[in-house]
Formats: sequence, C-alpha cells, structure tokens
Amino acid sequence: MDTAVFRAWIGSAAAVIEANRDHLTQLDAAIGDADHGINLARGFAAVTAALDGADGADGTAGSRPATPGAVLTLTGSTLISTVGGASGPLYGVAFRRAGKALGAAATVDLPLLGEALEAALAGVQQLGAAREGDKTMVDALAPATRAFGKAIGDGAATADALSALAEAAAAGAAATISMQARKGRASYLGPRSVGHEDPGAASTALILTALRDVVAR
Ligand code: ADP
Ligand code: MG
Repeated sequence: MDTAVFRAWIGSAAAVIEANRDHLTQLDAAIGDADHGINLARGFAAVTAALDGADGADGTAGSRPATPGAVLTLTGSTLISTVGGASGPLYGVAFRRAGKALGAAATVDLPLLGEALEAALAGVQQLGAAREGDKTMVDALAPATRAFGKAIGDGAATADALSALAEAAAAGAAATISMQARKGRASYLGPRSVGHEDPGAASTALILTALRDVVAR
C-alpha cells in the first residue's frame, strides 16, 4: 500500500464521514451533545484541503505529504487543530501515532499497518484512559486491531485482512449499543446511555471500512 492508497483512504473516509454526518450527529444527540458528525465532517474537510497542499488554518505553509506516514501525520495534526470536543484530540493522536509508526516507508505491508493500528490504539488509550467495554471508540478500534493481527498471523491476503479489520470494527461498534458509558460525555447519563450506539465507535467503523473499500476497489 503506497502513498496514493493512503491518500485515497483518507479522501474516502472524509466522503463517508460527510455522508454520515447527520447520522453520527443523531447518535451523539441520544447520549451526548449532538455534535459528533458536525465536528468530524468539519475536521475531515480540513484534512482533505491539507492533503491537497492547502496552508494550515494557523498559517503554516502547506505541502502535499509524500509518504503514507506523512499522510496520516498530517491527517492527525489537522484533526487536532480543527475538531473540537473529545474526539478531535483522540482521533488526532490516533492518526499521528499511526503516521509515526509508519516512519518514512514508501510502501506499507500488512505487519507495518498492524503496528500502526496498535500505536493508534495505544495513543487513544493513553490520552482517554478508556478500556474496552466503556462504550467509546476503543470498542471499535481494539477488536479491529486484534482481528487484523490475527488475520495476518493466519496468513491472510491483504483484502481478507482488511475485511477482518472492517467487520470487527462494525461488530464492535454495534456491541456498544448494550453497553453503559463509563467515559466521555455519555457517562453522565449512567444507565440511560444503554440502548444507543456510541457515535465515536460508529465513526471509527466507518473510517476503517473506508480503508477496506479503497484497497478492494
Ligand atoms: P464530545 O463528547 O466532546 O462532544 P464528540 O461528540 O466529537 O466529542 O465525540 C464523542 C465520542 O468521543 C464518543 O462517542 C466516544 O467514542 C469518544 N470518547 C469520548 N471520551 C473518550 C475517551 N475518554 N476515550 C475514548 N473515546 C472517547
Ligand atoms: Mg459530542
């Protein structure tokens, strides 16, 4: 997977987030403050511009990233500076850690992508202190990362490993419906948070599914 694949992934993720903006915001309306889709769509629109070489909102000169790692690092930095709320810094650290894990590699194989996912998950958990079962994006990212690692260990081809990743993320997001939130704004609702899908887990599944779909295309 080369720089073009990573650019296509993030471009596709931006389109999917925009298409699901109202859905994600409605999920957040049920157990949060109804801004998740709006926040992320704004952030990914800025990411799209940044990847095309636009100057940063803070005046830093833009340039098109030349490696997969640089694509993800710029994605993370842009999300941090444009997305408010809890999810901006969390997604920001996830993409930045993933980008750092890829280093200067021109192409990314499955094990290296697995390392990037592990780094992203570790960054999210370091910053947000959420564990699996707390009803957050971790409930999509952690099982997805595990399933991807297992698929690689089993010798899966790229398309199959990415399918395992996407399917585990979607299943993990769906499993948040029955969970009670213990982190983030939704935790203020206590037992009333049960019965609703976590918006951040839902958006994580969309973003990881976009990678599967771009590579399968
Ligand atoms: P805010 O809650 O500040 O309005 P968003 O609505 O954009 O921010 O994002 C909410 C999502 O952020 C939640 O659905 C959850 O997945 C994620 N989240 C919140 N707190 C944490 C945390 N401590 N660790 C991991 N994810 C979290
Ligand atoms: Mg919110």
